[in-house]
Amino acid sequence: MRYCKKCIYPDTRPEQVFDEEGVCDACRSAERKNVSINWEERRNEFNKILENYRNKDGSWWDCIIPVSGGKNSCYQALTLKNEFGMNPLLVNFIPCEMTEIGQKNITFLRNLGFDIIQVGVNRKVYRKMSSKGFFDLGDCCWPEHIGIFTTPVRVAVQYNIPLIIWGENSQLEYGGPASWREKNCLDRNWLEQFQMLGCRISDLIDEGYDRKDLIGYEYPSDEELKKIGVTGLFLGYYIFWDNMVQAQQMIDMGFTVNPDGPCEGGYYNFENLDCKWIGGLHDYMKYLKYGYGRATDQLCIEIRNGRMDRSEALKLARELEGKIPKKYHQDYLDFIGCTDKEFRDNLDKFTNKKIFEKDNDGKLIRDENGDVIKIDYGY
Ligand SMILES: [Zn+2]
Repeated sequence: MRYCKKCIYPDTRPEQVFDEEGVCDACRSAERKNVSINWEERRNEFNKILENYRNKDGSWWDCIIPVSGGKNSCYQALTLKNEFGMNPLLVNFIPCEMTEIGQKNITFLRNLGFDIIQVGVNRKVYRKMSSKGFFDLGDCCWPEHIGIFTTPVRVAVQYNIPLIIWGENSQLEYGGPASWREKNCLDRNWLEQFQMLGCRISDLIDEGYDRKDLIGYEYPSDEELKKIGVTGLFLGYYIFWDNMVQAQQMIDMGFTVNPDGPCEGGYYNFENLDCKWIGGLHDYMKYLKYGYGRATDQLCIEIRNGRMDRSEALKLARELEGKIPKKYHQDYLDFIGCTDKEFRDNLDKFTNKKIFEKDNDGKLIRDENGDVIKIDYGY
């Protein structure tokens, strides 16, 4: 594995590009973000756009904000309301298994004066899709990753609220194809390129799923979107995004973080709190596929914001990620109805054998805790 010279991203990361100095595109993107973007100008531009969507007589909501019960969405909601004077309708797609903390943070938002719609889809089909995600696509949260993007758009159409405010532009924060990095909006193409893992809703119907069970996952048609004029904007395009600073603001206002410290496989205690498997299993599968997990993403942000040095981040990443998550292990087996052996065999199936230690027979070597061992930790 080759690692970025500035942060700790490895070259196994999908769509990762290193320049001639060995620096990744996420680091280069952060330099632009810190230096060459005029944030004042962008904020004014945002204000002007919002003006077109503000409901003048207070008879309807001004915009939609998708919320998960995590820090990002709480920050979006409060920023739009308090800094930009908008009256948003919050939309929450209920994850596979919402945690108590996630629900608490949804209530926190209502207590702060927001209206919210919670959408819960058919759990029988959810379970089937989660199992497909886990066994076929290597992402146990696959249906959730679709639902959180389709549901707010469906509500926008249904409620005739054309503006949707999304959070960070993940290609700007974490790197990605250049054409997407400077994007201010999120649309069907974005969803299909980054969230669907190559499997479309129509493929599910071909596989025997009933279309009526998938309504919640279907993106509205182009005609519907055009009729309402639905526009989705990234707040992270218009205002400077800093996770740590935002989290502190939310915590000061009463946002609940993980009481046991960093979420499993992560470095922050304020991210991935809303769903039982997103912080643990989903991120662990990413680690097996690409050799890095959520802690790496978060530590890279800390490096880029000048709060941590590279060697400390490498050490922390090794300590924090790459361990089979335990907290909700049994819950997940019960949810999709598989045995521990089937579960572990499937993890092995998605493990990139090139980046983990193997014995002479090509079998993965495990440490005393049963975890696979990376060949190169980037030191
Ligand atoms: Zn980098």
